[in-house]
Order: sequence, then structure tokens, then C-alpha cells
Amino acid sequence: MGKDQEAIKENIRSRFEKSVLPHMTHLVQNADEWFLFPVYVLPPDGKWSTDRVILLGDSAHAMPPKGESIGYALEDALIFSCVLSHFGLASPKAALLFYEKIRRKTINDAYKDASFGWDTNKDTGFLATKIMEWVTPLYLWWTKNSREASFATDPREIQFP
Ligand SMILES: Cc1cc2nc3c(=O)[nH]c(=O)nc-3n(C[C@H](O)[C@H](O)[C@H](O)COP(=O)(O)OP(=O)(O)OC[C@H]3O[C@@H](n4cnc5c(N)ncnc54)[C@H](O)[C@@H]3O)c2cc1C
Repeated sequence: MGKDQEAIKENIRSRFEKSVLPHMTHLVQNADEWFLFPVYVLPPDGKWSTDRVILLGDSAHAMPPKGESIGYALEDALIFSCVLSHFGLASPKAALLFYEKIRRKTINDAYKDASFGWDTNKDTGFLATKIMEWVTPLYLWWTKNSREASFATDPREIQFP
């Protein structure tokens, strides 16, 4: 699709021709180059490790964009380094298993959230988009406490056995 620059421009132009943003038409008209970013995802709940090797970040759990995946990749690295320090190199398998045990649910939940957000952002038509706009503040209010708790959590506070 990216090769047909005129088709992309026309597509974007028709999507935004009734935009409430006053300069949108002008911006689209004057853009010379269009680049489509492919978004690759991995299936949920995939295999992360073998006996001596583990995948962290996107290589383990690339999920649809939600604006938080860099955070998960950094947390993975931080948590895994703490776990490895605790178990030591003598038993890497114990460290890998323990890491997966404490990390799996967080990542699976994030994956579900991200997929839900991604699916509801596809072309949905006028009415569905309006309904989404109306319920979004309610959703943000409903999930506020859990989001704040999640942001306030220190990933280094791990309960070791
Ligand atoms: C279009 C798009 C928008 C996004 N927007 C956001 C956002 O707004 N906020 C957010 O938090 N996240 C966002 N993300 C997700 C975020 O970019 C990733 O979750 C994050 O970069 C994952 O980090 P990572 O270190 O696991 O992997 P990567 O950042 O992919 O790093 C992997 C690195 O390994 C290198 N590599 C690959 N193979 C080899 C090899 N064989 N040898 C050596 N090196 C190799 C790659 O070149 C790359 O530099 C977005 C992703 C996309 C695609």
C-alpha cells in the first residue's frame, strides 16, 4: 500500500475532509511523503524461555500499541535483573521460572487491554465512534484507581519465596 502515495493521500483526505481541526485539509494537501508503519504483534501467552535463554520486551510479548509497551520492556529488564541477582547464576532455570510466574499475569492483562483498545479504534462508523467518545470519560474514571496503583508500583518490590 505504501508504494501508491497518491492512493494514501486520497484515502487520508477523504477521512479527514470533515475534520473539526481547521488546518487538517491543508496539512494533508501539503504532505509530500506518506509512510505506513507496520504493526507486528505476537500471539498472546507465548513461550518466553528455554532452560538457559529468555526473551524480554517485544521479543516475548509484542502487543498492539497502547502507549505503554516501552514501559513493559523496561520493567521486564528491571524485574528480571532483580530475579537473576536473587537466584544467582548457579540455577538460571529457577530464575527463569520464577520470573515468568510473577510476570505472566501482568503481561497477559496488558495484552488483553491493548487488544481491546486496538480493536475498538478500527473503522467503526459515526455512531459507534460517538458512543466511544461519550463513554471514554466514564471508562477513564472507572479505571483511574487501578491505573494510578499500577503507575505507583515499584517493580523492584518482589516477594521472593
Ligand atoms: C508504530 C509504533 C508505535 C509505538 N508507540 C509506542 C508508544 O507511543 N509508547 C510505547 O510505550 N510504546 C510504543 N510502541 C512499542 C515500543 O516501541 C516497543 O514496545 C518497544 O520498543 C520494545 O522494546 P524492546 O527493547 O523490547 O524491542 P525493540 O525496541 O524492538 O528493540 C529490539 C532491538 O533489537 C535489534 N535487533 C533485532 N534483531 C537483531 C539481531 N539479530 N541482532 C542484533 N540486534 C537485533 C533491533 O534492531 C532493535 O534495535 C510502538 C511501536 C510501534 C511499532
